[in-house]
Amino acid sequence: PDRDVPALEGRGLVKHFGGVRALDGVDIAVQAGTVHGVIGPNGSGKSTLVSCLTRFYRADEGEVLIFGEPAPAASWAVPGAGVTRVFQVPHLFERQSVLDNVLTGIRTPYSWVSAVLRLPSCLRAEREARAFATELLAFAGLAARASFPADSLSHGQKRLLEVVRAVATRPRVLILDEPATGLVPGEIDALARLCAALRERGLAVVLIEHNVEFVMKVCDEVTVIETGRVIARGAPAQVRADPAVLAAYLGR
Ligand code: ADP
Ligand code: MG
Repeated sequence: PDRDVPALEGRGLVKHFGGVRALDGVDIAVQAGTVHGVIGPNGSGKSTLVSCLTRFYRADEGEVLIFGEPAPAASWAVPGAGVTRVFQVPHLFERQSVLDNVLTGIRTPYSWVSAVLRLPSCLRAEREARAFATELLAFAGLAARASFPADSLSHGQKRLLEVVRAVATRPRVLILDEPATGLVPGEIDALARLCAALRERGLAVVLIEHNVEFVMKVCDEVTVIETGRVIARGAPAQVRADPAVLAAYLGR
């Protein structure tokens, strides 16, 4: 495949809610092996953009391409295509251990049957799954908590665990909607390390964020939207100096 075909692309996306034009012709292209930030003031259309890209909502106009192919319709996550979204509110198995929460993302529906039958290939798969889960937990600064129940974690740690669990499903595109919200500085550093590790693994990461400093530090490219339109895009330093961006953030 062409190296320059974006992992995820939206072209001319338009979405109305009644009289509100939440997206007004948005173009975005996210390359594999990059972290792509989407920033913009509250209500600018960031979450709506994610919902259209993942087909949680059907856009009124425009198209969504995954590695150059039209995205399957009517699906909020597109598992076959490897697009996974992490929502703003964590949905964890609170009583299960931190490690088991991650393993639920890795295991196939049949793996418990295999485990009972103790098939050698399945035991190997289980060992590999645990090793992968443990590695991801380490990036997120959660290795020491692996055997504790998920409900013993802080709010920020739960959000990190949600991200790790999504990564464990081995998506090719991961979309994070405001993952830094409610995280303390140490947890934000862990999130930055996790994003860097995902980039190294060749994932396309879309980072919708409120925390502009975090986006500027972590992202390779940034798209800025305001009232449903792209007002700037480019490398963080370039976007940061853009007069339209300064006006959007400071002129209100
Ligand atoms: P952001 O994530 O940037 O804060 P949203 O995408 O949530 O912005 O919202 C963009 C605009 O669309 C806002 O004016 C919001 O009120 C409106 N909106 C979003 N979702 C809905 C919905 N489900 N129904 C009606 N209006 C919506
Ligand atoms: Mg939002």
